Amino acid sequence: MGIDLGTANTLVFVKGKGILIREPSYIARHKRTGAVLAIGTEAKLMAGKTPEAIEAIRPLRDGVIADYDGAEAMLNFYIKQVHESSPWIAKIPRPKVIIGIPSGVTEVERRAVSEAAIQAGAREAYLVEEPMAAAIGAGLPIDEPRGQMIIDIGGGTTEIAILSLGGIVLNKSLRIAGDELTESIIHFSRVKYGLLLGDTTAEEVKMQIGSAVEPDDKKELQIVVRGRDLSNGLPKSMKFSATEVREALAPTIQQIVRAVMDVLEETPPELVSDIIQHGITMAGGGSLIRGLDKMVSESTRMPVWVTDEPMSAVVRGCGKLLTDERLLKKVKVGARLRY
Ligand code: ADP
Ligand code: MG
Repeated sequence: MGIDLGTANTLVFVKGKGILIREPSYIARHKRTGAVLAIGTEAKLMAGKTPEAIEAIRPLRDGVIADYDGAEAMLNFYIKQVHESSPWIAKIPRPKVIIGIPSGVTEVERRAVSEAAIQAGAREAYLVEEPMAAAIGAGLPIDEPRGQMIIDIGGGTTEIAILSLGGIVLNKSLRIAGDELTESIIHFSRVKYGLLLGDTTAEEVKMQIGSAVEPDDKKELQIVVRGRDLSNGLPKSMKFSATEVREALAPTIQQIVRAVMDVLEETPPELVSDIIQHGITMAGGGSLIRGLDKMVSESTRMPVWVTDEPMSAVVRGCGKLLTDERLLKKVKVGARLRY
């Protein structure tokens, strides 16, 4: 099985069956005893609504394993769930597991993740860095002597990487991604309108009308939001326009674009010319912001495309590796190409 342990979403791919699980990377547990109460959607629904004794957390929030026990519990839960839900898989009692991890994860954390997978019943556990997995999922010919650039904008981290010959030549893991975009909407609403928005509402605004550049059709979208009026503490509705939301998102989007430019500046010229020719690939939920591809393209003066189903690129990449022993050997963590 392949697992994308994302900061926002966890996806599980099972050989011969496809993607069986897509759940938010949340876990709810008792603060004192550490007993796990819920994992995934159910845990996310509890976030912000828990009584004192319970916490609903995201173990991978910033692209590092912020909460090891939580990450282990999630892995454990999903590996076991896949076992139990499919009797014909349970016949192979100990599956081979390939896990996509953020490239910022330390040596110690990597070992911890592998061990957690083995503990949970995996026969073998391999780790692949997310940008590599995303590129494989996007169908890029990553083992050719050709430079590829992949930008994976997730919830907690943006991974920017240059790949060639099955290795990561250069990469940057930025702790600015979808969460930060959501927060910039919360900030804008509070400062401009004195209106306090919840995370879920702000994320909805981002997904419904968020954009990086003015849309071609010039149609001005609007959205009605409900929050709390900070002046009197009462509920209040407001209408946001796409233009003001775009302005709110712009500084954060600029930081992402800036990081892409930085990586390109450090990239060896031969590889840059490959990228100019074949384009930059975007993946991850954050790449779905309207016009972000266009903005990256205009800033870098390079062609940019968003892969199909960007949110599942990493897990599909892990899935492909399950049946490609040779490629797995090349890209599993440890095999790193340095220029
Ligand atoms: P991770 O790999 O870190 O788990 P994902 O690739 O699953 O992250 O992407 C999650 C992020 O993508 C969240 O911040 C979410 O708000 C954002 N996202 C999802 N869909 C959209 C959309 N249509 N427009 C903008 N952002 C989106
Ligand atoms: Mg991801």
